[in-house]
Amino acid sequence: MLADLEAGTINGLLVYDLDRLHRQPSELETFIDLCAELGLTNVASVSGDIDLTTADGQFQARILGAVAKKESDDKSRRIRRKHLEIAAEGRVSGGGSRPYGYEPDKVTIRPAEAAVVAECAKRLLAGEPVRSIAQDLNDRDTPTSTGGKWSPQSLRRMLASPRISGQRAHHGEIVATAAWPGIISPEDGARIRALLANPERRTNKAARRYLLGGLLVCSHCGERLVARPRTGGKRRYACARGVGFSGCGKTYINAEEVEQFVTEAVLHRVDSRDLQRAMERRQQQAPEAERWWKEAETAQEQLEELAAAYGQREITIGEWKAARKPIEQRLSAARKQLAKVTHGGLLDSYVGHSDRLRADWDSLDLSQQHALVAAVIDSVRVGPARKGYNRFDESRLEPVLRP
Ligand SMILES: [Zn+2]
Repeated sequence: MLADLEAGTINGLLVYDLDRLHRQPSELETFIDLCAELGLTNVASVSGDIDLTTADGQFQARILGAVAKKESDDKSRRIRRKHLEIAAEGRVSGGGSRPYGYEPDKVTIRPAEAAVVAECAKRLLAGEPVRSIAQDLNDRDTPTSTGGKWSPQSLRRMLASPRISGQRAHHGEIVATAAWPGIISPEDGARIRALLANPERRTNKAARRYLLGGLLVCSHCGERLVARPRTGGKRRYACARGVGFSGCGKTYINAEEVEQFVTEAVLHRVDSRDLQRAMERRQQQAPEAERWWKEAETAQEQLEELAAAYGQREITIGEWKAARKPIEQRLSAARKQLAKVTHGGLLDSYVGHSDRLRADWDSLDLSQQHALVAAVIDSVRVGPARKGYNRFDESRLEPVLRP
């Protein structure tokens, strides 16, 4: 329009109201300048004609513009406030299509669909990829709420929605318990969001595993070190601090080397008569150990996923706290059990035959290796790194053998 005025294609302007002409007062100033330049005197509007080349006309236009801007600001403020109010009360928002799992009132659960939601959530948390779940739903002719086919994206969106756990979100933040019932628990909801926010963590699970999980202790603060790879992916254990961790953040150690060192120590130790005696005492409790170790490891992973999701603002602090509690309880229960139970069972056939164990070592899976290490070693204290010393420094390590 401005270009047409300048080119002389049009020589007058009709607007419904002067505040429709511009959104910002500064745009009015540009327009006034243009009118003066072109000698454009006839701007007509329903609420009255204005000659923008006169001082009176400009004054009038500025007042009208300022009033209109304030009204429009007030209006959007009011709308925003209203939306927040509705959200904070956990009420449904207007518009949009019927959410999956619920009737068109968005409050009443539709049982057949709710069963699908619960099933998908369970399968996802058990480690099944979203893509395969979506494929399965389509194969079973289980359509979306609009009758269409599921895509991995639409299924991911549905499962990540706080709505299905009975929570009300506003601009991506959970602000209230919803006025409608949830289909899954808020804890599962938070875990799903953490998981979906970080899908590659799940799929690379095997590669992320660490032989000495829970066995290394920071000599500085006494906390257990956790798996914490470098940004380049090189495996490393660290005394983690920050969200979800209570370590000092000072101790790091390269995983490859410490694992090799500890493995050697274990393979050497297997020959000793002490071990044989220790094993005879504890043998009957052995089979349980692996189960508890796996349980502890899974819980630890979930805590890390949650912390990462919170760190990236994918879940709120409230969600994070709520989701963390039951996992921490599981973790500490598993650790307690693990401490009670000896990991010796597997060692049985290897006692006194460290050469055979050495030969078999690489063919054992990680949980078996871990069980063997934990049968021999109570913990390894990891001291501070020597400044400027880049090679593996075994003087940092102080293994504490099982009695
Ligand atoms: Zn520490």
